[in-house]
Amino acid sequence: MKDYTLIIGLEIHVELATKTKMFCNSKNDSNEKRPNANICPVCMGYPGTLPVINKEAVQSVLRLGLAVGGEIADFTEFDRKNYFYPDIPKGYQISQYKHPLVRGGSLLGVALTRIHLEEDTAKSIHTESGDSLLDFNRAGVPLVELVTEPVIHDSETAGRFAREFQLLLNYLGIAEANMEKGEMRVEANVSVSRSDLKSLDSKDGPFGTKVEVKNLNSFKAVEKAIKYEFDRQVGLLESGGEVQQETRGWNEEKEETFSQRVKEGSHDYRYFPDPDLPKLFIKDILDFAPEVLRRTIPELPWQKRERYKKDFGLKDEDIEIYVREPGWGMLFEETAQLLNDTELSKLASNYIMSDLRKIISAERMAEVIRMIDEGKISSRGAKDILKIIQEEDADPRTIAEEKDLIQISDREILERIVKEVMEENKNAPIQFLVGQAMKKSNSRANPEVLKNIFEELLK
Ligand SMILES: [Zn+2]
Repeated sequence: MKDYTLIIGLEIHVELATKTKMFCNSKNDSNEKRPNANICPVCMGYPGTLPVINKEAVQSVLRLGLAVGGEIADFTEFDRKNYFYPDIPKGYQISQYKHPLVRGGSLLGVALTRIHLEEDTAKSIHTESGDSLLDFNRAGVPLVELVTEPVIHDSETAGRFAREFQLLLNYLGIAEANMEKGEMRVEANVSVSRSDLKSLDSKDGPFGTKVEVKNLNSFKAVEKAIKYEFDRQVGLLESGGEVQQETRGWNEEKEETFSQRVKEGSHDYRYFPDPDLPKLFIKDILDFAPEVLRRTIPELPWQKRERYKKDFGLKDEDIEIYVREPGWGMLFEETAQLLNDTELSKLASNYIMSDLRKIISAERMAEVIRMIDEGKISSRGAKDILKIIQEEDADPRTIAEEKDLIQISDREILERIVKEVMEENKNAPIQFLVGQAMKKSNSRANPEVLKNIFEELLK
């Protein structure tokens, strides 16, 4: 078997969470259950209506472009992509062709080709009785499309990229991008290249024939479908066959891709600039000024990871939880701020990770850590206190006193215990003696102080 290289490019569509649709004032609500509740003559494509550009949607894409270090267009326009399908009432979709809002940039080291803005189509629902129903709530919802360069070479990276993109959209607050709800849809262009593949009749040059895999509605599906496609294409080539240029779907149950339609040449959508919409000279529009929008960009996931690593030296797995789960991240940050000490913050993080199932207040968390630091409670005691706080929010010091968890560090008391133990167990090894003394103190003795006393007295 020869060496094959997997080549993947991703195309990701995401519905933006703007208040209204892309070109009209209809509500943009992906949770609306009643069909055709949020529609108007504009998004229904009635003749004589005029679209108006949604400023918030354009700003969202520009902010996204700035976050990934892309090049913001000086000039941009919207184009009509002409095709006929029941879910596209106008007979064309308004999209961007020659002048996308953003070019270039990168995410997780993956180079991006472009990011543009378009409108979503209606939703077709095919019933069991053979009817096709149309719900226009989704028609005209702002849709951002991100296209990567074909520079991804394994399915895990593709999955990680899609996850990171979703996280970025969440951080920017521009989309929920819930894949199960169809708010984020991933397409993978998959091909394999082989050193001698150029000799085959390949339509896409050195890359081998490209297959487009659609309907990937979970991150797992993205990874599995790419893996499956790689094996399928390699199998075809190995057996002397040829990869056909086509669009394939993903069967979740069988875990395999299947042919949807074979592409014969590229479809001619007769793109042309939409004459109903103004052309946009981005830098002349104050609302779109990159230097203004840049100030609205929060700390981004990769910046947060770096800061947690640098400031606290936390483990990568723990950092990832804080970066992905804002509530836990907030608890850690606030606790760290209260403790104002790198080592104690790190200790707090260990307890958060191992002993909390529920988010508690940062004040309580910091207090528990301080008590450990002061030698007031043992690690065991801290775990017990944290358990109680999660059940019934209460002051850690009060809990410690009520439950007799305060560690005994008092030399005089401990010395008395030590002497008793030494009297009862003559010539026993120190480890045994410490254990006996611990028992005598009902596990409340500070083990370090205890050990010190033994060492001194045994000399
Ligand atoms: Zn509308």
